Amino acid sequence: MAETTKIKTIGVLTSGGDAPGMNAAIRAVVRHGLSKGMKVYGIYRGYTGLMEEDIREMRAGDVSDTIEKGGTILKTARCKEMRTPEGIARAVEVCHKYGIEGLVVIGGDGSYRGAEKLANEGINVIGVPGTIDLDIACTEYTIGFDTAVNTAMEAIDKVRDTSSSHERCSIIEVMGRAAGYIALWCGIANGAEDIILPEKYDYDEQKLIDNIIDNKRRGKTHHIIINAEGVGHSASMARRIEAATGIETRATILGYMQRGGSPTCKDRFFASIMGAYAADILAEGKTNRVVCYQHGEFVDYDIEEALVMQKEIPAYEYEVSQIL
Ligand code: ATP
Repeated sequence: MAETTKIKTIGVLTSGGDAPGMNAAIRAVVRHGLSKGMKVYGIYRGYTGLMEEDIREMRAGDVSDTIEKGGTILKTARCKEMRTPEGIARAVEVCHKYGIEGLVVIGGDGSYRGAEKLANEGINVIGVPGTIDLDIACTEYTIGFDTAVNTAMEAIDKVRDTSSSHERCSIIEVMGRAAGYIALWCGIANGAEDIILPEKYDYDEQKLIDNIIDNKRRGKTHHIIINAEGVGHSASMARRIEAATGIETRATILGYMQRGGSPTCKDRFFASIMGAYAADILAEGKTNRVVCYQHGEFVDYDIEEALVMQKEIPAYEYEVSQIL
């Protein structure tokens, strides 16, 4: 990779939902950027902080003792103004004011859409996939997913213990926004009796009810249903299932605990490599790219191309989840 670079100043921000491992990514952008002779600005509170000039120059020491921390030291935000021409114009103005020649955006696909709009206005952007949802089509891995599924898996194991003891049915709702990857992984890893994914659910609740009654007849002491946030309504579903089956049914919504906590080794590793990769491709002079992991390699795609890619729940993984 190029040793010296024409790019002198870059910025880094985190946007959308926080994800464990974002700090490792920030750290890698900062330290790798500095090693290439670039000045690195940390932009606080995502696009909101960019517009409000909540910006500080980062030194190597500013990211010390952060790799093991959950959340994001740069804070994050969902910024409505980025969806308006005035907001985009303001963000562009601030980038010019600070001389930011490359902006690293660590976030989910929504954050990428904001970045694409900046790219259309001539700001060079690099996306790094940071979301627990694993729902960015161009990459097989997104920073935060591994920590989130492990946190959810451990919590579900605990609910299962109490569910078995009370011979209950438990509906456990996991995060993932419109995507079912966390539900799929936990469904398989926790040995759930049913998995409800937004991509696959046909809203045939009677099938679930029949399955619960059948399992009870076969002597099962619990019935775990993993429901994805994208389907939701776990509490009302539990009420209807209890009424139809006569089996005590409780809903547990795991919620924000899935986004917190110290990142796993996998998240720290992927975040570090992806953050460094972002600084490298900026140094190489590449523009408007997103960093991805595909077929065992770290690669980059044009942001516009990346945003039109589609991703589906892998058919084989889903089939296996239904059999196990
Ligand atoms: P997560 O997957 O964790 O929710 P995300 O990046 O997808 O992360 P969003 O809330 O969808 O989270 O997007 C983050 C921010 O990106 C938004 O608050 C907004 O500022 C910007 N953004 C999202 N979509 C657009 C869009 N279509 N145009 C401009 N900006 C956008």
